[in-house]
Amino acid sequence: MASAVARVSRSAGRGPLDALDDETLVSLIADAAEVRKNVDLVLAAAAAVVDQRSDRDRGTAGLARRNGHRSATSLLQSMTGQSRSDVTRALRTGRDLLGEAGEGLLPAGGAATDGSPIGTGDRLSGDRDAAPRWRTLLRTALTEGRITTAQHEAIRVGMGDPPVDRYADCDPAVLPAAWARSTETLLEDAGELSVEDLRHAARIARDRLDPRGVTLRFDERFAARSFRRWADAAGQQHAHLTLDDESAAWIDAIGDAALRPRRGPRFVDAGGPAAETASAARDPRSNEQLQYDLVMAVLRVGAAVDPNQAFGDRQPGVRVIVESTVLTQEDAGVAHLEDGGDTLPRHVAEKYLCDAGARVITTDVRGRPLDVGREQRTFTPKQRVAISVRDGGCVGRGCSAPPSWCEIHHIDHWYEHHGRTDVDDGVPLCRFHHLDLHNRGARIVRRRHPQSGVDTYWWQEPADRTTGVIPPPERLRSRSPRRFEAA
Ligand SMILES: [Zn+2]
Ligand SMILES: [Zn+2]
Repeated sequence: MASAVARVSRSAGRGPLDALDDETLVSLIADAAEVRKNVDLVLAAAAAVVDQRSDRDRGTAGLARRNGHRSATSLLQSMTGQSRSDVTRALRTGRDLLGEAGEGLLPAGGAATDGSPIGTGDRLSGDRDAAPRWRTLLRTALTEGRITTAQHEAIRVGMGDPPVDRYADCDPAVLPAAWARSTETLLEDAGELSVEDLRHAARIARDRLDPRGVTLRFDERFAARSFRRWADAAGQQHAHLTLDDESAAWIDAIGDAALRPRRGPRFVDAGGPAAETASAARDPRSNEQLQYDLVMAVLRVGAAVDPNQAFGDRQPGVRVIVESTVLTQEDAGVAHLEDGGDTLPRHVAEKYLCDAGARVITTDVRGRPLDVGREQRTFTPKQRVAISVRDGGCVGRGCSAPPSWCEIHHIDHWYEHHGRTDVDDGVPLCRFHHLDLHNRGARIVRRRHPQSGVDTYWWQEPADRTTGVIPPPERLRSRSPRRFEAA
């Protein structure tokens, strides 16, 4: 590092930076980044020691208090000029570097010879044997200079600790081992991804290993959904939306549609698309205004839809990718949004299969597509209207959602029974009740009267997990005006 420092000061001292030739400028950046990476490490480890020496137990004798600061964070902020979150991040990295063993494990400091990593000596080993392997892999990559502190933080926080408690029924060694393998993959990818993309990839890696956590997190965020409206003192109207993951994907799909002409096609040939992009560029609206206008247009169109007419037979916008094993085996995994790969719990994927159908794609063991099947089991617009006429809206208990708000639930799950798409097998449910049904693992069953041939639909809760008792099914009522006798 010392020679990198020397090179930086030599290049920077050579006169105004904008007078440097390209080659010198690029190597100056590389050297400066190298220096910063090492200095960040030293700062992080030193910050963690400052934090230890400012321990609350030491009272006014603590390092921070003696320097007139309430806490180590406050002292470090004033010394480094960094934000609170920067200092918090540095402290977390520093504690990782030191391990649990406490003081005296400061990295060896800037190594004298160039290229040799700092802090790889025995003094750093600390609790290395006790630390989980994925954390050791991360720490080694950090101290060897293969990743920056920001990349370290992205993987560390993105993965989080393996939730061994959540899988008490599994071998406790399985999850930590899988965590280490994913960490190795992320470390290989780190050089090619931005820090944001690395954090995103780490979260996806974690979600694939923790399907139960995906459901928990989805449910938590779904419960937090809200729409709030207010006017401020100046009379400006505001709204605040807190979105669940699935609705966020929808909003993104709408926003992308609004901005697509502006972003323009990647390759344009003269004439058509280029001219379109140019006209979009003349649009005086900001991107935010453009997206706002489209969202409002969608709302207005939605409000104008005849409530007796069901939506079309294919949901636009959001596509979900799910492996068939996820649907047929309990706890087998998660689904992913086609765009971005974010994870969704299995019950949300089931809801999509019901309403929007699926395209079955067979792959070989290496994931190469072999066969692209036909669209499976979607109700046609005519069938949707027929179902809506029969039921008059969501059949969920106490629900008054009109047909236009409904998705069509297929009472046989398609991956279990490859039956035909018959109107008798479709039941309208609003988004909430549809999600709720799949989340509970409940079913809707049809009973056909042996003499009259009249169908009735019943909500069947699953067997109680602990007692195994199956609750009695509950009759679902049609809300169609046709349920009453006509004159
Ligand atoms: Zn369904
Ligand atoms: Zn409903």
